[in-house]
Amino acid sequence: MKTACRLSAEALVAVGKAIKPGATTYDVNRAAADFIFKHGGVPTFKGYDGFPGDICISLNDEVIHGIPSRKRKLREGDIVSVDLGATIGGFVGDNAFTFPVGGVSALKPETAKLLKVCRESLYIGISKARKGARTGEIGNAVQTFVEANGLFIVRKYVGHGVGRDLHEEPQIPNYGPKTNGERLARNMTIAIEPMVNERTATLRKLADGWTEVEAKGGKSAHFEHSVAVTEGEPLILTESEIWLEAAENYRDIPLIYP
Ligand code: MG
Repeated sequence: MKTACRLSAEALVAVGKAIKPGATTYDVNRAAADFIFKHGGVPTFKGYDGFPGDICISLNDEVIHGIPSRKRKLREGDIVSVDLGATIGGFVGDNAFTFPVGGVSALKPETAKLLKVCRESLYIGISKARKGARTGEIGNAVQTFVEANGLFIVRKYVGHGVGRDLHEEPQIPNYGPKTNGERLARNMTIAIEPMVNERTATLRKLADGWTEVEAKGGKSAHFEHSVAVTEGEPLILTESEIWLEAAENYRDIPLIYP
């Protein structure tokens, strides 16, 4: 799992370098797939339930499952949510990150806040991923934080166990009471992945059969780590420099910590 998660994390770093004004989402897909193949892995999402891309790329009001396209050009001020899985040695690493095209300074203040809230909510959720805790403790902490900051947590898609398969038990919702769900055990590996929307939690699926958009046209952010449950602090298996850079870049945006 460490190897698979390291590869998926490094592929996400490579994706970040490919995201710039004028690039197409196909170019970004290519950068990810090339990186994963070059390092002996396979893009997990390709063909999963028939998904046509190597990775999912969702722009602005798109929440999840966006299909890479040669026709889709990135523009300064866009936000790009990339969800990426890599399989190597029989195991899967899964992670997602929302990148600002042209840097944080190109974003409207409310968009920068959306990204910060979503990223923070993930780390708050991860802090609850401890041996003996219920999955509901993660979801409750994520939802409470997101809603305290005036934003909406998506319910239609949830986090999950990850290991030999991309989606394993248990489900990890980003909402609900603390008492929900099963208890986490040592050495469980789980993907925690809040999606945060600007205007409504409701999604609408586009005619391509894949892309889910924010139903009121607001922007959407998505951050995901694969995490191992230990005797103590959870181990973030997909950590990399882009996460630390984001923490620094959004430092001056005030949030409410309920
Ligand atoms: Mg996932």
